[in-house]
Amino acid sequence: MDRYKKYSTYLKDMYGEKVYKIPVNLPLTCPNRDGQVADGGCTFCGDVATGFESLENTIDVKSQLVMNIERMMKRYKAKKYIAYFQNFTNTYMPLDEFKTAVEEACIEDVVEICISSRPDCIHDAYLDILDEISKTYGVNISVELGLQSMKHDTLEKINRGHSLAEFIDAVRRIKSYDFKVGVHLILNLPWDDKSDIIETAKVMAALDIDLIKIHSLYILRNTIMGQQFESEEFTVESVDAYVDKVVEFIRYTQPKVAFQRLLGRAPKEETLFCNWDMSWWKIHDMIEERLETLDASQGDKCDYLGGKAVKKFV
Ligand code: SF4
Repeated sequence: MDRYKKYSTYLKDMYGEKVYKIPVNLPLTCPNRDGQVADGGCTFCGDVATGFESLENTIDVKSQLVMNIERMMKRYKAKKYIAYFQNFTNTYMPLDEFKTAVEEACIEDVVEICISSRPDCIHDAYLDILDEISKTYGVNISVELGLQSMKHDTLEKINRGHSLAEFIDAVRRIKSYDFKVGVHLILNLPWDDKSDIIETAKVMAALDIDLIKIHSLYILRNTIMGQQFESEEFTVESVDAYVDKVVEFIRYTQPKVAFQRLLGRAPKEETLFCNWDMSWWKIHDMIEERLETLDASQGDKCDYLGGKAVKKFV
C-alpha cells in the first residue's frame, strides 16, 4: 500500500495509462531577475533555472517535443505526454508569443499543457488564452507555481519578490478555471522550522492545491545562496530533520493531493550542497520507512478544515 499519493498514480487514474512530462525550454527570463520586480533573482536560482534535462531554447517548441518524445518512446514506450513549460517564468512574455508557444505544443499525443510560473505573473489574460487552447485542442491545463516558503520573512531572505498574498491571489484566479494547480516548496530552508512546515501543509489544503512538488534545498555554485553558504551565514539541517518534516507535511496534506517529488535533485558538479551527499533514492527510502514505522499516511492528520470545532453539533 502506498502511504502517499504518487504523481504517477494520479496520472494513471486520470488518463488510464502512463503519461510522461516532456520539458519545453523557452528563451525567457524572469521579472525577479531582469529588474521588473528585483535584480538577481531568488538567492538560490542558477542561470539555467530548473531545467537540467531541457533542450536548447533556440529549438522551436514542436521540435523540442518531437525530439524528447522520440527519446521517451524508446526508453519507456510511452504514448501520452504532458508538455511542460518548465524554465524560468513561462507567463512572462507578450500575450501573442505565449499563445503561439502553447499552441505549438498541442501536437498529437500531448494530453496536457503544464505552465510553470511565479505567483505575481498570473494574470487573467494568460488564463483566458489557456482556457481557449484547452477547449480548442482538447488538452487539460495545469499551472505550477513556485512558492518555496509560506513565511514572508523567509520569502524576503531568499529574495522571492512576492509574498503569500500574491500566491493566494494566483491560486484563486487559476482555480476559477477548470485547471489544476501545483506548488513547489522547499521544506528545509534554514529559516523554516517544523511548525512552519505543518502550517504550510494546512494552507495548501485550505487552498485546495492539487499537486505538490517538494524540494530539498540544493545550493548551486555561483549563486547568492552559494556565497552565503560558503561564508557560513546559515547551515542546512540534518537529513533526519528533513525526513521528519516531509513525513509531517504528508500527514497534514489532503489525501487527494498528488506528490510529484519529495526531494530536489541537481548535478553534483554544479552544487555546493545537495541531499547530504546521499543518493536521492536512499533519502526517499528513509521517508517511506519513517511513514511505515509510524503507521502514518497522507492525510491522517488532515482533520482541521470545515469547521472542526463545531463538528460535534452537526
Ligand atoms: S522565480 Fe524562478 S526563475 Fe525567477 S528568480 Fe526565482 S527561481 Fe529563478
